[in-house]
Formats: sequence, C-alpha cells, structure tokens
Amino acid sequence: MSALKKIEQTGWLRGSSAGCRPRFRERRNCWRLVLLGPPGVGKGTQSQLLKQRLGTCHLSTGDLFRAACSRTGCNSTPAMVEALNFMRRGELVPDSTVWDMVRERSECLQCRAGFLLDGFPRTLPQAEQLQAFLEEALLPLTGVVEYKMPLDVIIQRLSGRRVCESCNAVFHITSRPPKVEGVCNDCGGRLYQRPDDCPASISVRMEAYQKSTAPLIHYYADLGLLASIDADGTADQVFARTMGALVPRARRVNN
Ligand code: AMP
Repeated sequence: MSALKKIEQTGWLRGSSAGCRPRFRERRNCWRLVLLGPPGVGKGTQSQLLKQRLGTCHLSTGDLFRAACSRTGCNSTPAMVEALNFMRRGELVPDSTVWDMVRERSECLQCRAGFLLDGFPRTLPQAEQLQAFLEEALLPLTGVVEYKMPLDVIIQRLSGRRVCESCNAVFHITSRPPKVEGVCNDCGGRLYQRPDDCPASISVRMEAYQKSTAPLIHYYADLGLLASIDADGTADQVFARTMGALVPRARRVNN
C-alpha cells in the first residue's frame, strides 16, 4: 500500500486532515458521491474501485467506529463506548453521535479531491444534516448511487466476507478469495470476519436498513441525485454500470 493511501485514511479515521495531500485539481471538478445499499451489497468493493479511478477518499463511518474501537481498546468517551455497543449488536448508532463524528471531519468533505461517502448518511436526519452542510459550503453532490440485490444473495455474501484489518480491503471466501488464506493480497495484513457479519447481527442490520435507510432512496430521488444500479455480477461489471450512470451526471454538475 502506498504512503499516500495511508495518509488519506488517517485524516478521516483520526479526525484531522493534517498531512493529507489531495491528488487532484480544482475543487469544482471533483467527485462528491454517496453510496447507498444494504450491508453486503458490495459497496466496500465498489468504493475501492471508485477511489482508484476517481482519486477521492473513501469515507466510511463504519471504518471510523471500528478504528476508534481498536485504537482505544473501546476505552473512549462514554458516547463512543455507547456507539460501539450499538454497533456490536448490529444496530444503528444514534444520529447525534454519528453527526458529531462526521462534523469533526468536515475538512474531508471540503477536500479538493472530493469524497466517497459509504455508510453515511443512513437515516433521513443524517441526510438532511449532510445536505444542509453541503449547500451552505457550496459543495453540490455529483450523485447518489443505490446498489440493489436480492436478499438471499446478500446473506450468502455477508457470511463469507473477510476484511483486512490494516487496509480494509474486502475479500470473500468463495467469490473473491485471497491468494493466501487469511492474508490480504494488497498489504499482507490479517483478514478477519467482522463480528457483525454473524447471522444474528445480519438480520438486525437488514431490518435497520429497511427501516431507516431505504427512505433515503426517495429523498435523493426527489433531489434528482439518485442512480439505481443492479449490484449482481462481477465487481468489474457493477463498476462499469456505476461509471455509466455517473459520468453524464458529473458533466452536468461540473458544467
Ligand atoms: P458498516 O461498516 O457501514 O456496515 O457499519 C457498521 C456499523 O457501524 C453499523 O451496523 C452501525 O452500527 C454503525 N454505523 C456506521 N455508520 C453509521 C451511520 N451512518 N449511522 C448509524 N450507525 C452507523
């Protein structure tokens, strides 16, 4: 993994953009994207591909909470300890805690390299807070991508998912196995199964998605920002569909 990638992630995960070196041009031509879709639909994989192609940072609130947990040994502020308990049960962390953490990192949203938000917003109040912030800062979203897939395929994907504890690259024990079992292809880090990928947590997370996140689809459709993408198929196929939907939008936003 390059030093640059480590620096990018550090800014978001630690809450300070000091040391970031955005690769890109003027702020107005960058990509600002939100990825939506139930857990296991492949947002993490698509984020990695989009990040490589577009040069934006991948800003995942789930990564943020996991990093806070491993950094502090879960010995953080009472609000963070409470947040991590919600997370372990597969439930959503309260909006106020999530927004506090995102707002602390608002420099990442204003970065001239743009951003790729994954896992945030997840509720209508979070989406409204984000939209108000972006409108005030004159930072229009390029688009919101909704990934769609049948439930049984998602469950099969989640239970076989393995994640790198160092660089967060995503593998699957059958459909995208690492070259060496338990070891990340990209950085050599250890692969692990997220505790919330166990069957009990999966069903809680699916319910949380249906109840809280699905309404965002209508919210962003009403704003004219939504692109719905069929997430079945190989990562490259889904990526091609995503770019096919996003490129015309980017032209409209940037011209
Ligand atoms: P993810 O990695 O995006 O699947 O997130 C893992 C867990 O972190 C979720 O199941 C939630 O408990 C918590 N989480 C992450 N992002 C959010 C968010 N935007 N709102 C509420 N909870 C979140």
